[in-house]
Amino acid sequence: MTQGKKKKIDLTGVPYYPYFKEIIIHHTATPSEKKYDVEWCRALHLGKGWSDIGYHLYVEADGSISMGRPLHKRGAHCSGRNMMSFGIAFVGGLKDGEPTNTLTPKQREALVACIAELRKLTGKELPVYSHRDFKATFCPGFDASKEDWTPKKDVRTRNPKRVRKTDPGAVS
Ligand SMILES: [Zn+2]
Repeated sequence: MTQGKKKKIDLTGVPYYPYFKEIIIHHTATPSEKKYDVEWCRALHLGKGWSDIGYHLYVEADGSISMGRPLHKRGAHCSGRNMMSFGIAFVGGLKDGEPTNTLTPKQREALVACIAELRKLTGKELPVYSHRDFKATFCPGFDASKEDWTPKKDVRTRNPKRVRKTDPGAVS
């Protein structure tokens, strides 16, 4: 996919590290603000001497999705699991300086889209975990493994109001 911010994501044909078998969700441990965009995070991680941003996908405060580290490279997001996990981070996790679940509905929708695309790409029902399943951390502020990440698209196709029939008089 091309660089840039979008609400949807298409990972069709994107090369990925073949041993990735799970997804780990993170927050950035920042307030949920626009300034903490993917380039902010990349600079932060490069500043630690890392080769690139630690996460593969990055959901910004407004729910837009950005590519982080290429999917065919091991990330740097969860010690001991980087060789087997895609890492997705969303901006947030702090409110008034306190660790909080700050995930917004738009960000949740973006996470659903990211997870669905990674599952489609790999052809596997990749399980979803929280960073805190593997480390003593608050991150990401909720139990990602207990959430239902199934996209709601089935509802749309079943809803007859959303099915557009061709106007019989229309010229096609
Ligand atoms: Zn984390």
